[in-house]
Amino acid sequence: MNHQLAGPGRVGVGQTPPDVDAYPCLAPEATFDFACKGCGDCCRQRRDLVLSGLDLYRIARRLALPPALVASAFCKAEIGQTGQMYCLPVLRLAPRGKNADCPFLDGGSCAIHAARPLACALYPLGQAIDPATGKAEYYPQTPLCGASAGGRSLAQYLQDAGVAARLGTDVQWAKACTQISGLLQAAGGAANPHFLPAVRRTEKALYYDYTVRDEFYPQFRQNMEVLLPLLARILG
Ligand code: SF4
Ligand code: SF4
Repeated sequence: MNHQLAGPGRVGVGQTPPDVDAYPCLAPEATFDFACKGCGDCCRQRRDLVLSGLDLYRIARRLALPPALVASAFCKAEIGQTGQMYCLPVLRLAPRGKNADCPFLDGGSCAIHAARPLACALYPLGQAIDPATGKAEYYPQTPLCGASAGGRSLAQYLQDAGVAARLGTDVQWAKACTQISGLLQAAGGAANPHFLPAVRRTEKALYYDYTVRDEFYPQFRQNMEVLLPLLARILG
């Protein structure tokens, strides 16, 4: 599979190019006639699976471990080099073994299924959130896999997959990441002498400064309230 990275508000795997505008979006009432066959193909040769803070938090809560520990065991951190992720700290699931399988693929099934990341819950759909309006759109990634689900609507699919329940948080995540990327770029990006400390502090606020005993969203809001003025001071 030719996986490509998605940015904040752009979640997708498979053959999806970063420019999803070229893909036809589905209306909420549209039929999305898909049921997963459980073949596990979308979990193999995975090098692109970008996590949001909520994704990491949900996995950490499932494993009853701190998010930073889960990240050090299963993820690779980097700084976004292109597009909407430019200058942002980005966490990806680190592939395992010569086949580059997802580290949570266990005997053909997902070991963290109930806490799987958004991109996995969506698949084979991709999601695009407009950070200005908060509007989410969904587009099928081709070729479609799976079997027929007997006329299920897109809205029902999103509800069944747990995507609808987390949408409000995912919209706020897309907005925050877009704002932070803009701040880092406006300060000169990597040319700013305080860029790396700013990125490290951002990474903590987006991904690690959470306890799994409490809900994610209030902690995220608090982290952003502290981070944004702090970044302005760090970056000068
Ligand atoms: S997290 Fe689970 S569903 Fe997602 S790629 Fe890994 S094994 Fe597959
Ligand atoms: S989503 Fe598709 S590729 Fe992934 S396990 Fe289900 S049928 Fe297979």
